[in-house]
Amino acid sequence: MGLLIRGGEVVTAAGRRAADVWCAGESITRVAPEIAPPPGATVIEAAGKLVFPGFIDPHVHAYMPLKNVTVKSDYDSCTRAALLGGTTCVMDFAGSGLEPDPDAAWAAWDQQAAGQAHCDYAWHLTLTRFDETTRRQLEAYVARGLRSVKIYLAYKPTLAMSDTDLYRVLEFAAARDLIVMAHCENAELVSALQQKLLAAGRTGPEWHGPSRPPLVEAEGVCRFLTFAAATGAKAYIVHVSSAAALTMADGFRDRISELFLETMTHYLVLDKTCAERPNFEGAKWVLSPPLREKSDQAALWAALADGRIDTLGTDHCPFDFKGQKELGRGDFTKIPNGIGGVEERVALAYTAGVVGGKISLERLVAAAAENPAKIFGLWPRKGTIAPGADADLVVWDPAARRTLSRQTQSIATDYNPYEGIDVHGAPEVVTVRGEIMVRHGQFVGSPGKGRLLL
Ligand code: MN
Ligand code: MN
Repeated sequence: MGLLIRGGEVVTAAGRRAADVWCAGESITRVAPEIAPPPGATVIEAAGKLVFPGFIDPHVHAYMPLKNVTVKSDYDSCTRAALLGGTTCVMDFAGSGLEPDPDAAWAAWDQQAAGQAHCDYAWHLTLTRFDETTRRQLEAYVARGLRSVKIYLAYKPTLAMSDTDLYRVLEFAAARDLIVMAHCENAELVSALQQKLLAAGRTGPEWHGPSRPPLVEAEGVCRFLTFAAATGAKAYIVHVSSAAALTMADGFRDRISELFLETMTHYLVLDKTCAERPNFEGAKWVLSPPLREKSDQAALWAALADGRIDTLGTDHCPFDFKGQKELGRGDFTKIPNGIGGVEERVALAYTAGVVGGKISLERLVAAAAENPAKIFGLWPRKGTIAPGADADLVVWDPAARRTLSRQTQSIATDYNPYEGIDVHGAPEVVTVRGEIMVRHGQFVGSPGKGRLLL
């Protein structure tokens, strides 16, 4: 029994070395040159391959109930896609504003995920208000080990939190070492700009971006971080999309001791021209914050390279074009916001980032595995290759070439936002706690054995 990954180059955030990896049961127990496998061991030959710790996506919406439309995602499809792309742990957001309180949100997500997830998963708890019920229930999750809550400044009246409650959440969090994650966009400004554009007959998807310009995001970052600095809370800004937001956050570094920034694959490899495609096709790339300029991409890559951006996620939240994105024909504010990407993240970041010369392999592992684990309390069990860590591993073939496409994606949406992009590299073998889940692009694991990490 046991699993040996032999002859590969082991890559962690700390460096690269030729080594074999021996896994006994669910854990890695040895990392050393030339480990001799005992009889009966499963041996994976990894000569010429890279061996990564299982990647972690800190920001997916595996399940997300909405009022008017159903996100085309559930725990089965999201975690299957994650594994096929080399991601062995996803972090979702329990609570969407439709649940009255944290207990209801937790129960709803538990019902969705239990027995349906194929990889391990963790939750951030979404809060839309902060009253005595919220406080009491939240206290119990913190006692169980909850590390993070999420709030929205955008999306009034469903999700956005008032400044009064924002202060209360941050004060609560600061006293309990809880990280507060925030979607930073000014809700009032977005609403005003949307109404102005619609009134001028500007109704197509290409106007989504102009309704949420970078300054709207920078204002959100400024307000959130001002409150965080005033309370001493740890702050995590989700999906930083623009140079303006990044610069604003940089201005707070000496005032907030623990400030974390996250960006998404789509802001690095796609730009606003996608949403400007004619005949409503641009709706396929309507998401918030919107896709930006090429110059924003360059700023984000530079910050990912030098460590000012800590994590790389996807905001995986896919919809069909037909019947779903189309709900916003004639009114871009009614286009469901979001795209998929949990399957494509690692290949896109490897191709555009590592092969493209923008970040090192180590930085890729840091942003897409080690840092999410460290920030959210999963390290060193997740996010590295070392004795004692879970045997979540990716044997990566750097020589593979593929073209991303709806035809080959695993999720059932009717388009792929990265259609036609050629990528380098592919996960040849993916393991979760020592079990082989993916081999040569096929899901081969036993389904539904993913665990909630809390
Ligand atoms: Mn968001
Ligand atoms: Mn999100």
